[in-house]
Amino acid sequence: LSWSLACAVCSRPAADADATACDRCGGVLAVRYAALPQRLPSSSLRGVWRYRDWLPEAPDVAAVTLGEGATPLVRLQRWSESVGLGRAYAKLEYVQPTGSFKDRGASVLVSRARARGARRITEDSSGNAGAAVAAYAARAGLECTVFAPASTAESKLAQIRAYGAELRTVAGPREAVAAAAQAAGREDGAYYAGHNANPFFVEGCKTLAFELAEELGGAPDHVILPVGGGSLYCGLALGFEQLLDARFIAAAPRHHLVQATGCMPLVAAFDAGAAAPLPVQRRPTVAGGIEIEHPARGTVILRALRDTGGNAVAVDDCAMLDARVRLAALEGIFMEPTSAAAFAGLERLAAAGVVRPQDSAVVAVTGSGLKDPQPALA
Ligand SMILES: [Zn+2]
Repeated sequence: LSWSLACAVCSRPAADADATACDRCGGVLAVRYAALPQRLPSSSLRGVWRYRDWLPEAPDVAAVTLGEGATPLVRLQRWSESVGLGRAYAKLEYVQPTGSFKDRGASVLVSRARARGARRITEDSSGNAGAAVAAYAARAGLECTVFAPASTAESKLAQIRAYGAELRTVAGPREAVAAAAQAAGREDGAYYAGHNANPFFVEGCKTLAFELAEELGGAPDHVILPVGGGSLYCGLALGFEQLLDARFIAAAPRHHLVQATGCMPLVAAFDAGAAAPLPVQRRPTVAGGIEIEHPARGTVILRALRDTGGNAVAVDDCAMLDARVRLAALEGIFMEPTSAAAFAGLERLAAAGVVRPQDSAVVAVTGSGLKDPQPALA
């Protein structure tokens, strides 16, 4: 496939394929294709690499894979009835090699880093992306350094260490963690994976849209995601946009996002009609996976939100933990608190009549409950 990088905000072409941000506006970059295939794959491959004809890495580059993607899509019965919905589904994104959706992005990103000749990968993460990148780096035979906030759950740090990655915890705001990882990524032979801005990570995440379209025979009416940095949200929006352009689906779903009331820069921007995330007063939350004050993809997320007719809602820790318990007890689905935010948000959207009983709605269950089995209320 012929592709290049361009700014996702102002569309300016990037200087080269290794650029990390727009040199005009500083915006995040995205992969642009000259032309995408005119058919969905007939291959019997399952998961992310089933869609390799739609991905930027040429088919002759060996993929770094652990069988990611191809996650279960299950219809919710008892929980749906309890909130007045008729056609709600959970896409079990935690049923992946490291226990979160991040494996989709890590597989494509680490494949890219290895093809570029990187010897070491640096990443900043509140836990799940760090584990995913560490695992795929191990699989690829690359060294890996993960920078994590000092507040990260010990169980998540242990998983990162287990993959042999060097772990450095950084005190202070999330931005300080990213800055440390970026500085290390500029060293010789290193590749900064920074999933919150890296376009190849989003390319891996977009395969979720392709799976849903194949499984449902088209697009659902609504998709609901917990959003911090928005890599999955942007990936899903991108995938459905490409499916729409190729006329595989008749309309894109409405893309709703859910944040924690303790950190809601995108919800605040949506409520105010702003084009960029608004500054917020951050308070501690059990949803560490979406605790991002300054999302690098903020303007891209807000544009997709408006373009698809999505809503942005904030839920508090009690609502998340309550949803977490109910999904486990009613449906047998045990998720981390960050993921439960999306169900609490869908319940709000259902109560407000945004998602109606006859609508199809898919919630991505982004991370396993085993990642953080006993979150403490802040
Ligand atoms: Zn730009």
